[in-house]
Amino acid sequence: MASTGPHTNAYYSDSVAPTSQPVPETKKRDVSLYQFFAPGGVLSRTHPAYEFRRGQLQMAQAVEQALEEKRHLIVEAGTGTGKTLAYLVPVIRSGKRVIISTGTKNLQEQLFHKDIPFLEQALFPNGEGKLKACYMKGRNNYLCRKKLYDLTDQPVLSGLEEIEHYRAIATWEKVTQTGDRAELASLPEASALWHKIDARSDTCLGQKCSAWDRCFITEMHRKAMESDIIIVNHHLFFADLSIKQQAEYAPDAGILPEAGAVIFDEGHELEDVAGSYFGVSVSNGRFEELCRDVEVSLQRNHMLSASLSGALKSLRERAIFFFALLPQGDGRFAFESRREFMEENGDEFLGLQQALTRLGSELENLASKPEEVFNFARRTQELQVQLGFLMESEDRNTVFWIERRRGGRDKLNVFLQATPIDVAPILKTCLFDKLECAVLTSATLAVGGSFDYMRQRLGLEHARESVLPSHFDYENQALFYVPPDLPDPRTPQFTAKAADRIRRLLEITRGRAFVLFTSYAQMNDVYQRLLGELEFPMLLQGDAPKTALLEEFRLTPHAVLFATSSFWQGVDVQGEQLSCVIIDRLPFAVPSDPVVAARVKSLDADGGNAFFQYQVPAAVITLKQGFGRLIRSLHDRGLLVLLDNRILKKQYGRVFVESLPPYRRTTDLKQVEQFFGIE
Ligand code: SF4
Repeated sequence: MASTGPHTNAYYSDSVAPTSQPVPETKKRDVSLYQFFAPGGVLSRTHPAYEFRRGQLQMAQAVEQALEEKRHLIVEAGTGTGKTLAYLVPVIRSGKRVIISTGTKNLQEQLFHKDIPFLEQALFPNGEGKLKACYMKGRNNYLCRKKLYDLTDQPVLSGLEEIEHYRAIATWEKVTQTGDRAELASLPEASALWHKIDARSDTCLGQKCSAWDRCFITEMHRKAMESDIIIVNHHLFFADLSIKQQAEYAPDAGILPEAGAVIFDEGHELEDVAGSYFGVSVSNGRFEELCRDVEVSLQRNHMLSASLSGALKSLRERAIFFFALLPQGDGRFAFESRREFMEENGDEFLGLQQALTRLGSELENLASKPEEVFNFARRTQELQVQLGFLMESEDRNTVFWIERRRGGRDKLNVFLQATPIDVAPILKTCLFDKLECAVLTSATLAVGGSFDYMRQRLGLEHARESVLPSHFDYENQALFYVPPDLPDPRTPQFTAKAADRIRRLLEITRGRAFVLFTSYAQMNDVYQRLLGELEFPMLLQGDAPKTALLEEFRLTPHAVLFATSSFWQGVDVQGEQLSCVIIDRLPFAVPSDPVVAARVKSLDADGGNAFFQYQVPAAVITLKQGFGRLIRSLHDRGLLVLLDNRILKKQYGRVFVESLPPYRRTTDLKQVEQFFGIE
C-alpha cells in the first residue's frame, strides 16, 4: 500500500536536524484492520485474553480514516475497549511519524513496555521487522552532564545526604545510557540535589554546551528523530509547544520532532495542562535560583567582582522584600487588587525591576564571558518581562493569582501566576489549525452523549466524533445506589449521616472499597468517625505514597481506602478486591479557586450560563472518572454509591445520570443487600 508523502504540512520544527536523518517512510503493513482485530485474526492468535471487541475495531477504523484524510477526531472509548491497540495499529499502518501524548506515567509505560513489544511480536513473529518507538519524559527527569561536571569542579553540597546522593549520581553517570533518574531507585523523589543538576530547559546552553555531544537530551532527541512512534506526556507536549510558540517556531526550539499526527490519550486532562503551560509563573524561588547559579558560576570562573556581588545582593534583598509585600493568604487565591497593590508598592516593584536591569548589564559587561553567562542574562531578562506582565498586564483573557506552598526546611514558596481563562483560542491557533491530524480520546469526553463541552473548552472546531459502544455489560456488572434520605451535602448534618451510611454499606460489601472524597477535610472527618468502628483494615491517603497504598490495598483482604482527587483517575484495581466505590458528593470544582472563578465570571459576563456550560459538564467528567475505577474487566462486579442525592432532586442531576454508563440504578438499600447475596 502507498505511504503518505513526507511531512510537508507537518507542524513541528526539528531542533537537531543537521545531525539526524529524516524518518524513512515505512510501508503500511500488509494486514488490514479487520484481519488484525476480527475473530480468527492476528490479535486472536497472539493475545492470550483475546475477545472480539466491536468498539475496538470501530475505533481503529475511525483513527485510520482520520490519519488518511488528515482530519481531527474526537472519540470516547470506555474502559475495556482496548483503545491503545485501536490507535497503535492504524498509526503503524500509516507509516507516519506520530506523537502519542498521555495524561499518566502508567499509560506511557503500558504503551512502551507492553503494547509496542506485543505488536512487534504479533506483526513480525519471525523478527522480520522492528517498530521504531521511543519514550520521552520531561527534561527534569534527565541528568544535565554539564551541571554535574560543574559541581564536580566546585561542589556546593549541603549536608551528608546530598554528598551521598552526589556520589551515587556521579558513579551512575559513567554507566547510564539514558540519564533517566528512574534508573536510580535509591534517589528520593524530592531530592534537592537532583533539582540542581537536572536538564531543565531554562538552564540549558543548547548547542553551545561543552557536553552537547554526550548530552542525554541530545541523545533523546536523536532517538525521537529516528522513531515512528514517540510517546510523551501532556506536560512535555505542552511545555514543548509553548517553547516553540514563544520562539516563533525557530528551528532550534523545543525537543519534539516533526510529526504527521498527535494522539492525545486521556484527553480529558488537556485544558488544565495546556492552561498551565500557556500561562506565566514567577516565584521567589526563581530569583533565588538565578542568584545562586550566577554566583556559583562566576566564582568557579573567578569572575565574581565586587560590583557583581553588589548586584546579586541587591537583587536578593529586593526580591525577598517584594514577595513579602504580596497579599497574605494560604493556598491559591486571586490577586484582584493588583492595581491598588501597585499604587501602594510601585516603588518596590520598580526597585526589583531595576535590580534585574542592573544584574543584566553587569552580566553583559563581563569581558570574555563563558557561555552560561549569556544564559543567565537571558533568564534575567525573562524574569523582568514576566514580572512586568504579571503586575501590569490588562489582558482580559488572563486571571492573575497567587499561590503559597510550603517547601522543605520550612521554606515558603510564593508564586505569582497568570493563567489563560480560555485556552480554546490559543489551542485552536497554535495546535489544531496547524496540526494535520489530532486524535483526542479518553473514557470520559462526552457529556450527555455530546462533545460540545470538550470542543468548546479546547477550541477543537472541525473534528469527526465517535462515542463507541462499551464492551462491558454495565447493567449486570454494576449497581448504582443513591440514598434518597441523606441530607444535602452542603448542610452540617451531612457528614455524620454519611459516615453512618458508609459503615452500613461497607458491612454489606465486606470492605473491599474505595471511599472517595472531594476534599481532604471531609476525608479526614469521615475517617476519624469510622476509625475503630469498622472490622476491616482502613487505609488513608497521605499515610504512604500513592503506589505503596495501592499495593497495600491490593494485598490486604477486605481493605477500605479513604482518598481524594488523586485516586479518582489512573488507578486500576481489577477483581473482587475492589467491589465498591463510594463518592461523597457531586465533584464540582471548588468555586473559590481563582482559575475556576475567573472562568465562571467570564462565561457569565459573555451572556452564557457558566453553571450549565462549564461547572456541570466538568463535574460530569470527573464523576465518570471516579466511578470508572470500579469496572475494569468483563469479570468485575460491584457497587457504586453517590451519597449526594442532588443528582435525583435537582434539575441538573439529569445531565449526570444521562452521562453515566447504563448501570442498574436503585435508591433502596435492600437491593444493595440482594446484589451481594444478603437476604
Ligand atoms: S546541552 Fe543542556 S542539558 Fe545537555 S548537558 Fe548541556 S546544559 Fe545540560
